[in-house]
Amino acid sequence: GETIGILGGGQLGRMIAMAAAQLGYRAHVYAPEAESIAAEVCGGFTCAAWDDTEALARFAADCAVITYEFENVPVAPLAPLTDKLLAHPRALETAQDRVNEKTFVEALGGRPAPWAAVNSRADLDAAIARIGTPGILKTRRDGYDGKGQWRIMSPADAEGLDLPAAALVYEGFIDFRAEFSVLMCRGADGDIRFWDTPENVHKGGILSVSTIPGSNLVQDQVAEGRALAAKVAEALDYVGVLTLEFFATENGPVFNEMAPRVHNSGHWTIEGAITSQFENHVRAICGLPLGDTRLAAKGVVMNNLIGDEVHDWAQILSDPANHLHLYGKAAARPGRKMGHVTRLILK
Ligand code: ATP
Ligand code: MG
Ligand code: MG
Repeated sequence: GETIGILGGGQLGRMIAMAAAQLGYRAHVYAPEAESIAAEVCGGFTCAAWDDTEALARFAADCAVITYEFENVPVAPLAPLTDKLLAHPRALETAQDRVNEKTFVEALGGRPAPWAAVNSRADLDAAIARIGTPGILKTRRDGYDGKGQWRIMSPADAEGLDLPAAALVYEGFIDFRAEFSVLMCRGADGDIRFWDTPENVHKGGILSVSTIPGSNLVQDQVAEGRALAAKVAEALDYVGVLTLEFFATENGPVFNEMAPRVHNSGHWTIEGAITSQFENHVRAICGLPLGDTRLAAKGVVMNNLIGDEVHDWAQILSDPANHLHLYGKAAARPGRKMGHVTRLILK
């Protein structure tokens, strides 16, 4: 088979590579870190910096098609790879900057939390005067798992904060009732499929649990979330899995952020849906027909295994409804995603 290139070497890349292997493709990971849990399951590995244009060119020459598992890849060095990068660089440019992302989604009729770009202390004061507290100050770029965020409960909190030397955005705090994510895949032919919508619980800014089906409140807001996701995918001429995160509020869904890639809140689809997000992502970028996204059980609960919590693997595995996924990371650090357990509800 042909080779699928994957930019980024973490667990999402690992699970894309495993789905690629199932369909007879070879995978080649490109990542700046010498240790890659994705490269471990791949035939090829290039360890080089994101802006190493020669290494990128050699990588591209080995790959029939290129995807990524991480939306913060610098876009400029990817320009020569664009014809192989089916999930368009424009999706990366939009999603890797929170201000671009919110502006783009607002233009499509989406509703984010009230927000303001912040480049100085005066901007922050003006943002707080207009939007109020509580709020969250976030770096525009490079944040994930709640990193690069500061909660501001009162104007005094803001005064006490040393402003980080990065472009920022201030968002009003949404008093949400629940969180959910719309998981969809768009094929190379424009075919759009949605998976069932997980209700997500975060702890300390990190996804902890996804439950399918979600509460009635969430289910009532899915149609509006899906309509926005389809508009985003079409506007970007996007191919592959796309995820939009929402806050479910009394007044309908509020857009949080998007991920133009496979997503942690879709890991349940490996056993819980007829076709997983990883398989459909590979099918999409390889120009193949998409698989059925319907539920394969009555319900599913996915729990992330985070940090150095100690688990009894034998006990988890002794329940026939559980499926254990370990990512093979050498060291457990606080807040690090080590694996997940998917529990199918069969009756
Ligand atoms: P990810 O790993 O999902 O990319 P991230 O670092 O980009 O995470 P966000 O999704 O912006 O972080 O925020 C993480 C979590 O913090 C959210 O899922 C939500 O629980 C909470 N949060 C973020 N922004 C807001 C907000 N404006 N109002 C209320 N809660 C928020
Ligand atoms: Mg994010
Ligand atoms: Mg998020």
